[in-house]
Amino acid sequence: QVCKDDFLHALEYDIKPAFGASAEALEHFLARGIITWGSSVSGILEDGTLLTQQARVADTFGLVSVLIEGPPNSGKTALAAKLAKDSDFPFVKVCSPEDMVGFTETAKCLQIRKIFDDAYRSQLSCILVDNIERLLDYGSIGPRYSNLTLQALLVLLKKQPPKGKKLLVLCTSSRKQVLEEMEMLSAFTAVLHVPNLSQPEELITVLEQFDLFTKQDIHKIYNQISGHNVFIGIKKLLALIDMARQTDPKVRVIKFLTKMEEEGCLDLGTMIH
Ligand code: ATP
Ligand code: MG
Repeated sequence: QVCKDDFLHALEYDIKPAFGASAEALEHFLARGIITWGSSVSGILEDGTLLTQQARVADTFGLVSVLIEGPPNSGKTALAAKLAKDSDFPFVKVCSPEDMVGFTETAKCLQIRKIFDDAYRSQLSCILVDNIERLLDYGSIGPRYSNLTLQALLVLLKKQPPKGKKLLVLCTSSRKQVLEEMEMLSAFTAVLHVPNLSQPEELITVLEQFDLFTKQDIHKIYNQISGHNVFIGIKKLLALIDMARQTDPKVRVIKFLTKMEEEGCLDLGTMIH
C-alpha cells in the first residue's frame, strides 16, 4: 500500500523536476569522458566526492560551495560536471554564460536568481556555475566586469538554503586571481585546483587511451619529449589528438610534436628529428 509518506518521499527524491533536469547539459560536458592521466585527477575527484557527501549529510550547514579553478583548457568544466553527475542529487542545474549571451546585467541577475530559487525548493540540489569570470563579463583588457552580477552571485554564494534543504554549488574559473581581487574566494567552502599535464609520462598515459599511435610511435614520442618541459591542458591535448588523426600515419608523430611545440605546449629546445 502506498501512503502519503511514500508519495512525499518520491516527490523529494525520485521525481526529477522538468525544470531541473540538466542531465543532458552534464552529458554534453562529459561527452569525451574523464581520463585519469595523473594523481591530481583522482585527487580532485576524491576531494570533490567528499565535499558532495558533506553537502548531503543532515547535521552540517545546508550549503557547500566549491570552486574548481585552473588554467584554460585544463578540464574544469568536465570535472565539475562529473562531480555534479556523481552527486546524484535530484535537482541539477547548469548556469552557464553561453546560455545568457546578449542578456542585460539585470536579466542575467534575474536568471541566476531564478536558478537558485528553483534549487531551494528541492531537498538536495546541485548548481553548476560555469566560467564565473565570463558570467561576470570580466575582460582582461580594462579590467571591467559587471558589479551587479558579482554582488548577486556573492549574496547567493553565502546564503544558506531554507531549513532542511541542501545545496551544492560547483563553480569553475580560469581566473582565480581575479576572483580573489573581487573578494569572492572566501565565499567558497573549498577550492580545488585543476592543473595542466606537465610530465611526459602523463601525456603518454593519455595517448595510450587512443588507437591513434602505434606502440613504436608512442615510444618515439616519449624519447623525444622525456627530459623536456610539457605544459598542456587536457582539452587542448584532445584537440591535437583529433588533428593528428587527420594526418597521414607516416608523418603523424612529427606533425603531433611540431604542433605541440608551435602551440607552446612543449619546449624541445632543438629541432625535432
Ligand atoms: P575552458 O577553459 O575553455 O573552460 P575547461 O578547463 O572547462 O576549458 P573542459 O571544457 O572541461 O575544459 O574540457 C575538457 C575535455 O577533456 C572534456 O571534453 C573532457 O571530457 C575531456 N577530459 C578527458 N579527461 C579529462 C580529465 N581528466 N579531466 C577533465 N577533462 C577531461
Ligand atoms: Mg570550461
